[in-house]
Amino acid sequence: MREKTDPHDEARTRAAGTAGAKEAFGRAHVVEGLVVALAPDFFEVYADGVIYLCRARGRLRKARPAPAPSRQAAPTPDVAPERPVRIATGDRVLITPLGPTEGVIEEVLPRRNALSRARSEVEAEHVMMANVDLAALVFAVREPAPRLDLLDRYLALCEHAQIPVLILFNKSDLGLTPPVEEAVALYRSLGYPVLLTSVRDGSGLDELRKRLSGRTSLLTGPSGVGKSSLMNVLLPEAGQRTAEVSEATGQGRHTTTGALLLPLPEGGWLADTAGIRELALWNAPADALPYLFVELRPVADDCEYEDCSHGDGEEGCALRAALEEGRITPARWVSFERLLEEARERERPVWHAPAHR
Ligand code: GDP
Ligand code: ZN
Repeated sequence: MREKTDPHDEARTRAAGTAGAKEAFGRAHVVEGLVVALAPDFFEVYADGVIYLCRARGRLRKARPAPAPSRQAAPTPDVAPERPVRIATGDRVLITPLGPTEGVIEEVLPRRNALSRARSEVEAEHVMMANVDLAALVFAVREPAPRLDLLDRYLALCEHAQIPVLILFNKSDLGLTPPVEEAVALYRSLGYPVLLTSVRDGSGLDELRKRLSGRTSLLTGPSGVGKSSLMNVLLPEAGQRTAEVSEATGQGRHTTTGALLLPLPEGGWLADTAGIRELALWNAPADALPYLFVELRPVADDCEYEDCSHGDGEEGCALRAALEEGRITPARWVSFERLLEEARERERPVWHAPAHR
């Protein structure tokens, strides 16, 4: 997929002398890379086994449209035409190498998906990570007991962002309670992959490594479930890499923004948990919600009335019918209702009082 850099070309680029010549020569030799870290003025871009410290070219070209058939996700608003592109970790970019480890970003390629945080103060979205292949949603079988309502929220959010998920129930060495066994069966029946892992006895870790291999993933979940412990076994050299980034950008890790992608020994990348502590804030519209619960999706279009509230006793509500027929569990329904209420609350018109004169 990526162009290979020919070492002779690189040597010639270095020998080219003037910046203008470099540029003219370099344009023809752009390579595709992955943004693995960013600081306010720098980007670290991985391409062909090298991490290039890059700056963006003065003005970035607009992302090209991505009609590739395998990419069914709609382009996110961030890369829609006529909007500025803010480069995020996980973006694929085209760079011109300007030296063995330096380069300039020419273009940001279209995103497949993005994990964003709503920034209410500027009414904009801040993309924390782009092109996420897999979101591993980590819970513990106990200590703390899994909050399945939170899992449902994460699942709906990933459905909305069109990010594939992997559900992890960690600390399996502590033993599965009947409700957890039920949950494992439920989420599997919904089509979600579920893994039982233990950092303590190592079970499930090989399978986890296999699932993460070659992909760009992140681990998220509530605190205390073992995310850091998992990161430590998956990324034995994570600490070292973090130090390298700080050195390369000449700034502390605390000044880098967004997620930091760390290379997995098996290939692929894993986002550090510090960068994405919580999965992005909810931003799906109420209308979209029935489509984000996979068991409601087949009937999401079937309510008799356009403005169906899906409330108790609502006439001709296809979602309520699904609940009555047992196609969605009462617990999942409660999760759905709660998210629906929240979405409606957010969408309620706001009346701004006129300012006093
Ligand atoms: P985080 O907050 O999600 O990053 O969780 P930590 O990795 O800090 O782990 C929280 C606690 O759970 C620590 O005391 C870990 O030692 C413990 N822990 C992590 N993984 C396991 C596991 O697989 N089994 C058991 N029994 N304890 C674990
Ligand atoms: Zn309805």
